[in-house]
Amino acid sequence: MSLNIKETTKKRVVIVGAGFAGLSLARKLAKSEFEVVLLDRYNYHQFQPLFYQVAMAGLEPSAISFPLRKVFQKSKNVIIRICELESIDTEKNEVHTSLGSLQYDHLVLSMGATTNFFGNEELEKNALTMKSTEDALYLRNKILLDYESALLTADYDKRQGYIDIVIVGGGATGVELAGALAEMRNFILPKDYKELDNSEVDIYLIQSGEKLLQGMSEKSSRKALEFLQKIGVEVLLNTRVTSVDGEYVKTNTDKSIRAKKVIWAAGITCRTIEGLRSDCYCRGNRIAVDRSHLIKGYKNVYALGDLAFMEEEKYPNGHPQVAQVAIQQARNLAKILKGKSESPFSYKDLGSMATIGRNKAVVDLPSFSFTGFFAWIMWLIVHLASLIGVRNRFLVLFNWMWNYVTYDQSLRLIIRTKNRKAP
Ligand SMILES: Cc1cc2nc3c(=O)[nH]c(=O)nc-3n(C[C@H](O)[C@H](O)[C@H](O)COP(=O)(O)OP(=O)(O)OC[C@H]3O[C@@H](n4cnc5c(N)ncnc54)[C@H](O)[C@@H]3O)c2cc1C
Repeated sequence: MSLNIKETTKKRVVIVGAGFAGLSLARKLAKSEFEVVLLDRYNYHQFQPLFYQVAMAGLEPSAISFPLRKVFQKSKNVIIRICELESIDTEKNEVHTSLGSLQYDHLVLSMGATTNFFGNEELEKNALTMKSTEDALYLRNKILLDYESALLTADYDKRQGYIDIVIVGGGATGVELAGALAEMRNFILPKDYKELDNSEVDIYLIQSGEKLLQGMSEKSSRKALEFLQKIGVEVLLNTRVTSVDGEYVKTNTDKSIRAKKVIWAAGITCRTIEGLRSDCYCRGNRIAVDRSHLIKGYKNVYALGDLAFMEEEKYPNGHPQVAQVAIQQARNLAKILKGKSESPFSYKDLGSMATIGRNKAVVDLPSFSFTGFFAWIMWLIVHLASLIGVRNRFLVLFNWMWNYVTYDQSLRLIIRTKNRKAP
């Protein structure tokens, strides 16, 4: 197997990962003097902030995914290969992938983060994650199939296992997911599953800390809790999950919840990369970089986005692992590679937000916070504007308007792949 990329006289930048960071960098270097080789295990960019809407059957995966080859149709200097990074050899300036090896002049690592199960194998085996479009579709199928199974289950306790859902982690992902699930229960279930008693369906959000949305303002976390409780989510604060066996979820407060579906949104970590010195890693397995994005101790190997740990006066514990950081870092590195910037990177916080169902969101801007309907409108606008492609924006806008007006979503298909066992 070979990557089949010809020798070039141009300087070659190899970017691993076409997420927010890798894709932004490749776009900035498109039509530059470099040869850009973009490697990813998928042939599309995934808009992770809207995964949960795919899982809730509110959006089709194609609305939040964008084919990489389409992005670079007009950029002759960008080469794309769909493969998995296996290791790197920084002595020989080579990457080794599932398709073969390739030399680089500059290597940029932007493979993002993965779910952190904190070494708990039981959890890893039984909990669901939300880190890819595949995960979101799997969850969608599982929810719908379990509702179908619940219809056939006369025993109340067994039925609870099918219909109750536990989300672990009270960050933005957990909060948004809990809100969307509660809306699905409140508006969709009574229409589609008339025989099920929707008051039996419990949605739990379990958070180990004393508040939701830890990184956000006091006002936003208080309001998020209030919104969730209002739509019937049972929020358990100061509670740790101790066991998830596929039937029951147990907590350190001796609570036992019968639920087959547990969504783990309680932390992320980064995979180690074979060939990188072990002293590069710091907290959460992130890779320590300097303010020019160079991995400490290397002259031509960079890390961006969730993967990178960069200290700044304002961020002694590294930047938050969010899309804006990845995008801003990528833009800055593009300038550095093109010789247009020598200044150290500084993250400009544009604010953070989370939505909790229809008409409800919380927004923290650098100077003030607001919540409710206008926050929700702002959330919609920001997410719509951040999507790649006019078609995707149109699709998402149309779906949102349709769902808003009809209190319904039209995408509840159970689609199983041919050779895969039903979840
Ligand atoms: C469910 C969810 C909701 C989120 N909501 C928000 C939000 O509302 N706002 C916000 O700002 N941030 C949000 N985030 C965080 C945000 O998505 C990340 O901070 C951002 O994606 C990081 O960008 P990145 O480029 O570092 O990595 P990613 O965007 O994760 O991209 C990594 C890329 O690398 C590829 N890859 C990984 N390993 C390999 C390998 N070995 N070989 C080849 N390719 C590989 C992956 O396929 C992927 O395309 C959310 C994240 C999740 C999971």
